[in-house]
Amino acid sequence: MRWKEEILELAPYQPGKSIDEVKRQYGLDHIVKLASNENPFGCSQKALNAIRDYESSLALYPDGYATDIRTSLSEFLGVELNQLIFGNGSDENIQIISRALLRSGYNTVMASPTFSQYKHNAIIEGAEVREVPLVSGEHDLEGMLAAIDDKTNIVWLCSPNNPTGTYIPEKDLISFLERVPKETLVVLDEAYYEYVVAEDYHQSIDLVKQYENLIVLRTFSKIYGLASQRIGYGISNEKVIRTLEPVRQPFNTSTFAQIAAISALLDQEYVVECRQRNREGLEQFYQFCDKHQLSYMKSQTNFILIDFKVDGNEVFQYLLERGYIVRSGSGLGFPTSVRITIGSKEQNIGVQQVIEQFVNERKNKAALSNH
Ligand SMILES: *Cc1c(COP(=O)(O)O)cnc(C)c1O
Repeated sequence: MRWKEEILELAPYQPGKSIDEVKRQYGLDHIVKLASNENPFGCSQKALNAIRDYESSLALYPDGYATDIRTSLSEFLGVELNQLIFGNGSDENIQIISRALLRSGYNTVMASPTFSQYKHNAIIEGAEVREVPLVSGEHDLEGMLAAIDDKTNIVWLCSPNNPTGTYIPEKDLISFLERVPKETLVVLDEAYYEYVVAEDYHQSIDLVKQYENLIVLRTFSKIYGLASQRIGYGISNEKVIRTLEPVRQPFNTSTFAQIAAISALLDQEYVVECRQRNREGLEQFYQFCDKHQLSYMKSQTNFILIDFKVDGNEVFQYLLERGYIVRSGSGLGFPTSVRITIGSKEQNIGVQQVIEQFVNERKNKAALSNH
């Protein structure tokens, strides 16, 4: 068969291990998953009720225009209906944008390390990938600008960035947008937007009004706790959205995803509560790391990247065998770190106890080998 050469080198996405898999493998009966940045408190009860109370036929296709969630979201954000595009998660929006703009002979610019799907989709489309290393965990915007040329069709910004948790301050973002060529689409991935507390974080809806080559991506998978339902959205001007729309599959977001998303969106009280509880968890993680002299990056998300200065896979395995699934940094571009999703208070204390045990065992080993 004449496969696209580009895809032959690609590996399928490696998801975090599932709870059932780990239970079976290690004979454990209590597993805590802190690997994929899901909301440990689940979704709003109102979203669950909306799905439970759904009464129409399962035989009918979903509303391909996602009219009701589109209407709710346009009111909530203060944008027009035709400034929104819905995807089967942000993952699909990344795919749609890549399909629409990337091909052989053109290139795309992104940070490194950052969210893996930008590069993955660019490779499938045959575009050249230009990765600009993070500097101290942050986007090197000047370096990214320097990497852009007249064949750059997309530049990806992830703010807050996965897997570092760092964000781009608004003034830096504006200075960047001012200088990016108008022919280059800037994709600003804000998957963790609702978790941000930094005061100089970007007001991206305002920026969408000013820069016609900007699209913002958000999702219901993270703070809204609806990762299983697969729904995310893009915000841009009507021209960009209109051009992307034909690339989208006609029925790409499910009926349940749409109705759950409406109720979740309307329950902002729950969002505020989750953000606060997450912040408390993060602060407590900082204290824990300080106490044990573990270095970490300050995070605006619901995860923390901790550098253990040893093989991240080893830390991952140690935690796994004791019932905690986290993400090894080795697959994320930080080989001596692990990325841990902030859980409930109880989960955080639990995983920290195991980390403490790990750190102490390492210390004892080191002390013994010094004798
Ligand atoms: C989780 C995540 C996504 C994907 O979210 P979905 O909406 O579940 O597809 C996109 N971008 C970043 C940075 C993420 O962390």
